[in-house]
Amino acid sequence: MWSGRSRALLRVWELWPAGVPGRRLLSCNAASQARSNSPGCWNCGVPGAPGLGDGFFCPQCRALQPPDRARDYFSLMDCNRSFRVDTTKLQRRYQELQRLVHPDFFSQRSQTEKDFSEKHSTLVNDAYKTLLAPLSRGLYLLKLHGVEIPEGTDYEMDKQFLMEIMEINEKLAEAQSEAAMKEVESIVRAKQKELTDNVGKAFEQDDFEKAKEILTKMRYFSNVEEKLKLKKIPL
Ligand SMILES: [Zn+2]
Repeated sequence: MWSGRSRALLRVWELWPAGVPGRRLLSCNAASQARSNSPGCWNCGVPGAPGLGDGFFCPQCRALQPPDRARDYFSLMDCNRSFRVDTTKLQRRYQELQRLVHPDFFSQRSQTEKDFSEKHSTLVNDAYKTLLAPLSRGLYLLKLHGVEIPEGTDYEMDKQFLMEIMEINEKLAEAQSEAAMKEVESIVRAKQKELTDNVGKAFEQDDFEKAKEILTKMRYFSNVEEKLKLKKIPL
């Protein structure tokens, strides 16, 4: 009985020092797996390597691979991780990717590839839309820097700004003619342009608090834009 207990103790002591390097070994493996980025082709098993068409396809059997969820939208859309985005280049990249992964091109392929192509296509659409509009691009970039503005939370806005928004909303509510609508539209557009320029500068200076404040303002104006669109739809 006694000897059994000491054997058990011994085992504990043997395990203890062994556990530490063991864990280290595990994290090493995880790191090297992350480096190679893929456990290998799901179809033929060839080890993960940058393959055809941006790593979307297996270099050996050409099967479409699943989307890399760790890849951010900027990398996927081949843009620098910055607020200033070349929208012409973005659009070109979007078309190029859709030509690679769109479900229409996979109708004759296996169900697995059909599913992957749906996922890729959705991801490419989301990435494109997010990076195209300044507000969503800014919010996304902020999120990559670990800063989020939860929906529905009122950032501490200055009174002057809230008054400005109230006035524009009133103007919109009262607008009865096309000219009056156009006036509101041009005010909002000018404001958004100014804010977009300013948020670009804030990001260039890595001033994320400033960027957060400006993006919150942009969100208010974006709400006005939504209301404008709804009002424009003829009943
Ligand atoms: Zn393969």
